Amino acid sequence: KTTNQIFIKEGILIDHGKKMIAIEVIPLPHTIDVYYLIVFRPARLLMNVVDLPAGETGVLPLTNGVRDAADQRIRQLEKELAQAREDMYDITEDQEVANEELQSANEELLSGSEELQSLNEELETSKEEIQSSNEELTTVNQELYDRNQELNQSHGFTEKIIAVLHEPLVTLDKNFIVKSANLVFYKTFQSTEEDTLHKYLFALQGNGWDNPGLRKVLVDIQKANDQIIEAELDFIFPVIGKRTICVNVQTVHSVGVDDLILLALNDITERRKAERILEVEATGARRDQQSLRTYLMEAPSLFAILKGPEHIYEFANLQYLEFIGRRDIIDKKMIDALPELAGQGFVEIMDQVYKTGKPFIGREMPAVVERIKGKPEACFVNVNFQAIVEETGKAKGVLVFAHDVTELVSGRKILEQNAEMISNLYMNAPAFICTMEGPKHTYNLVNPTYQKLFGSRVLVGKPILEALPELVGQGFDLLLDNVYNTGETFVGVEIPIILARDEGLLPEERYFNFSYQPIYQPDKKISGVLVFGYEVTEQVRGKRLQEESAARFRLLADATPNKIWTADALGAVNYLNKQWYEYTGKSFEELKGSGWESVVHPDDWSFNRAIWRQSVLTGKDFELEHRFLSHDGTYRWHLSRGVGRKLDSGEVTVWIGAHTDIDDQKRKERQKDEFISIASHEMKTPLTSVKGYLQLLELSVDTENAPATLYIKKAALGVNRLQVLIGELLDVSKIQHGKLDYTLTHFNFQEMIDDTVEDMQLSAPNHAILKTGRIDLTIRGDKDRLQQVVINLLSNAIKYSPLATEVSIDVKEVNGEVQVSVKDAGIGIPAQNLKKIFDKYYRVEDHAIQFQGLGIGLFISYEIIQRHQGRLWAESQPGQGSVFIFTIPVQ
Ligand code: ADP
Repeated sequence: KTTNQIFIKEGILIDHGKKMIAIEVIPLPHTIDVYYLIVFRPARLLMNVVDLPAGETGVLPLTNGVRDAADQRIRQLEKELAQAREDMYDITEDQEVANEELQSANEELLSGSEELQSLNEELETSKEEIQSSNEELTTVNQELYDRNQELNQSHGFTEKIIAVLHEPLVTLDKNFIVKSANLVFYKTFQSTEEDTLHKYLFALQGNGWDNPGLRKVLVDIQKANDQIIEAELDFIFPVIGKRTICVNVQTVHSVGVDDLILLALNDITERRKAERILEVEATGARRDQQSLRTYLMEAPSLFAILKGPEHIYEFANLQYLEFIGRRDIIDKKMIDALPELAGQGFVEIMDQVYKTGKPFIGREMPAVVERIKGKPEACFVNVNFQAIVEETGKAKGVLVFAHDVTELVSGRKILEQNAEMISNLYMNAPAFICTMEGPKHTYNLVNPTYQKLFGSRVLVGKPILEALPELVGQGFDLLLDNVYNTGETFVGVEIPIILARDEGLLPEERYFNFSYQPIYQPDKKISGVLVFGYEVTEQVRGKRLQEESAARFRLLADATPNKIWTADALGAVNYLNKQWYEYTGKSFEELKGSGWESVVHPDDWSFNRAIWRQSVLTGKDFELEHRFLSHDGTYRWHLSRGVGRKLDSGEVTVWIGAHTDIDDQKRKERQKDEFISIASHEMKTPLTSVKGYLQLLELSVDTENAPATLYIKKAALGVNRLQVLIGELLDVSKIQHGKLDYTLTHFNFQEMIDDTVEDMQLSAPNHAILKTGRIDLTIRGDKDRLQQVVINLLSNAIKYSPLATEVSIDVKEVNGEVQVSVKDAGIGIPAQNLKKIFDKYYRVEDHAIQFQGLGIGLFISYEIIQRHQGRLWAESQPGQGSVFIFTIPVQ
């Protein structure tokens, strides 16, 4: 746990497998996250193991005899070793170190062999024993090779670790040539790898490192054995200037590589500076506690002492109290005493100082202080936070020194800004500036923008009316006279001036925003006029165009018979055309906002509002029908359409809408409905009697009279069809009045389908009706009505597929519902008509020419299915045929 040290300890570990492992424990200097680097690698030499207790090594001792055999074996081993060395040389070409290592190992082996020889005289050994020692030697050889590789790896690894350490680090060889340096080093000392690596340390950075103190330390470390030398030295670098650096030097031993010198560098310039300041304060304190207090109390800078991890104010001087608006802060936590500091970072910095003990110095830091509650003021402070540390090294609190430099900073900032603004304004700004001197307003200074207004005409040195004769009679000379004589500033907005753009060009009307201001001499007399302004011709023209187009829109809107309105993006109505006022008899004030509700029929209001809100929310256009109250107290039906004008982004900028009076149309429709309803009623009775008489006729005609019987049958068929038609028309009117009755029974659904198909087939000579799917279910519903639906769908399928020879009906159960699909290969329905075919009287236009019908079958069917809690829809492709599908719940 010793910081600032690197030491290497080796140990040997032997496991059951007779593997010897060396362990190195390397504490890493100055790191926060990593303390030790632990390296495991194969043990160096067999010889090292010999000293260990025999039982644990697993190495068998050699015995006497067989010396020749040993000799021979050893020579053979040497040969093998030489061979191995060669191999190794091939493999690790660039590893000189490895080669040297091998060489020395070889020597060691040779001396080992001598030892073995002498041992041999005393010890008897068997062939197996030599064999086993031979194996050991081979192992050693292999391990030597392995170790070399490990060594290289661990070396690289160490370098990597050094590279990421937080402190600047350099390693040197014994001649003080830089072997490596980490990133922090390059950053701190603003140098590059190129300028540093393989260079003489003292020559780096313009000899900035050539410091007698450092030289001494580096010489000393080479004499010292495994020691660490630390020194605080002052350097002067050409780039980063004078720095105080704590240098921590140690030798790093690494087996197989020359010793390296590791330099850990800690730049403590700021710390020392701050400490010196503190020292001065502290000396003062020791001299006279009371006078220090007085001094601090009255010191021109802000000073406070905060205790503990929560920064509780213990002391604050007058300046400090003044600065924060004389609030009562003593014994309060900083954040409670000055709540406006939350989020400004100061408390976090205090935390850091308290935790790490490192001082913090900030210059011209912006801060916001509420001297008066609710009135935050921006200011700038230079701060110096120092940790107060107990003798035990634990932090006790934080000293705050600060200087209010607001005036300095803001004064300087304003000056900087002004200088920039003035030069910008004068030379580059699109604003024009000029000065005129004397009672005749002679041009003195003109900026390029001003000059550009008049092309190449010469202005400077000429009175205004002489330089720009077209101004005569436009009144500007009088305005200038007034400013010159009275000192009153003139400001003009969108003032038209007739000016020629250049010599010889025709004058044109242009617009300007400008001011005339008096220029005063030191004696307070007016010497001239400063003109400042910019041209707004384009804007004025743009505005005019816009106004014109708005006027044109209004004219157009008033000319149409429709009621036109516009609203802003949020849906607030901002324009209504003439027709609105005429129709409602109300003013814009009465109609805008919630006034709208007063003209919409109460029954239509919630629907109307829901649609409108939805559109404003989504930006989608809308269309609806509703009734508007006219000034005569009656409601009339209107068809309303609203369209949002959108930007590319999809955002609506304005809503435009129109309401078309469709009341007459609606009324006609109603009249038609009524007529149909009455007519069908009237026809029903005579038709019933015709049917009765036909039956009587059938009975009274001689059965032998074939033609008569046939005619009667045909007449009966026609009467039947008429009855169905009238029935349907009556159904429509019943549906409209909500009077279509249902008789609910339980019946077998499949049977109903079978019967219907059988009947239908009789009257469809050209189509085969195919049945697919069967269900055996009893359902509750109005059997006749459902049958009516099936008949409708099947007869449509047959009618609209004149060229086909079959239609099909499929029945199945899906998710607890009966599903019936009627399919044909007929003319199909275009997609845009698919939804409307269920509307009353709706017929696809193209079909209506070719096929007869009233457009009510599907309308009635839809109603019946809905009343059974089911759904009815169609899928179709023009030319490919259609499928009509309905479902009803089984329950
Ligand atoms: P009608 O058949 O008497 O016109 P319906 O209400 O039964 O009235 O059908 C409405 C319209 O839907 C028809 O006019 C026709 O245009 C279209 N339509 C209905 N069924 C089919 C079908 N199977 N194939 C093509 N078009 C169909």
